[in-house]
Amino acid sequence: MKTRKAVLAKPAKFVFKPGAATLRKDDLPVMIERLTAEYDVVAPVVRDFSIALEKIKSANELARGYRDVQSPGRYVLEKTDEPMIFTYANGQESPKKFIHPSRLLMFKGARKDGLFDVIEEDEPERKLAFFGIRPCDRQSILVLDRTYITDHPDPYYLRRRGDAFVAVVNCTRPGATCFCASMGTGPKADRGFDIALTELADAFLIEPGSPKGMAMMSKLPTKPATQAELSQAGFWIEDALLHMGRTLNTTDLPQILLRELDHPHWDIMKDWCVGCTNCTIVCPTCFCYTIADKVDLSLQSFKRERYWDSCFSWQFTEVHGCNFRENLRQRYRHWVCHKLSYWVEQYGVFGCVGCGRCITWCPVGIDIVDVATTVRGGV
Ligand code: SF4
Ligand code: SF4
Repeated sequence: MKTRKAVLAKPAKFVFKPGAATLRKDDLPVMIERLTAEYDVVAPVVRDFSIALEKIKSANELARGYRDVQSPGRYVLEKTDEPMIFTYANGQESPKKFIHPSRLLMFKGARKDGLFDVIEEDEPERKLAFFGIRPCDRQSILVLDRTYITDHPDPYYLRRRGDAFVAVVNCTRPGATCFCASMGTGPKADRGFDIALTELADAFLIEPGSPKGMAMMSKLPTKPATQAELSQAGFWIEDALLHMGRTLNTTDLPQILLRELDHPHWDIMKDWCVGCTNCTIVCPTCFCYTIADKVDLSLQSFKRERYWDSCFSWQFTEVHGCNFRENLRQRYRHWVCHKLSYWVEQYGVFGCVGCGRCITWCPVGIDIVDVATTVRGGV
């Protein structure tokens, strides 16, 4: 492993947008206060021994100084006495939890005068602000936007996603299963945010990414960033780039996977994958859902709900008594090829943002990077 000192000796590759400023760490509560005045603020917290995303009311609720140890099929969260705040990588939850919830009431109704009254869900009263999400998760929102705003406009998604504020935190310490650099989504966010923060020793470097972000910055006690602060932020992000947990060669990958649909490695996956669906649940871009209608026994009321579904489940591809992906070889291959190949044709971007969650949370330790690398011939 290269030491941070060794990396600091190299020239910085990362540049910041004009208007970058610094906010003292002591003033972070001011930022959260300003955001909560306008938005429901979603941020990383500690829950159930892992980093989770929850709505917070104050900066005190933020996860601070935790370090995660991640590897295929393993996640451990440890408390450190480091003064830094964002010392951890992603936990299992992503912005998808809030903009495309796992369970959603679409509408409900009741019988009235021989007819049914239908009540649509209410518009959420407050907009969301994502604070402290990573560049890969910021990209995951843009990927979901392609599906649920551009290509298949979905009112339920739009109501939640709407005009959400995005305050991303650039990565200065990636997790061991991360590969955002290979997917072009990190460790520094280049677009799709309102403000981007980079944690320094005593302050945050804040970069505006939109007029909304600039307006928010104008309400904070910032001061213009010095050249030394800009350089330090750039060096630390470069350090993260050099310590990325995994690397995936994406050159011609969509075409290679299409050519290799009969690769023998897919046969191994049939016996290895247990079809638990975890990878699709934790993946920030998996968007499939199913719909269920429920009528009460007295036939007086009903509701329609939608739930996340998974291409790993048997029912997902069951049609009129037959199944067009009848085994886990076909289902696993479909999932990987969708993420890394078909998605590019469908939406013009990879469906994988390199967050590493599917690797960490796979109970049998299947690693999408290893699989794709093997299928592409080990390079
Ligand atoms: S496929 Fe895996 S690494 Fe890629 S975005 Fe989904 S969970 Fe993250
Ligand atoms: S790849 Fe892993 S997480 Fe995904 S369905 Fe198979 S066993 Fe479960």
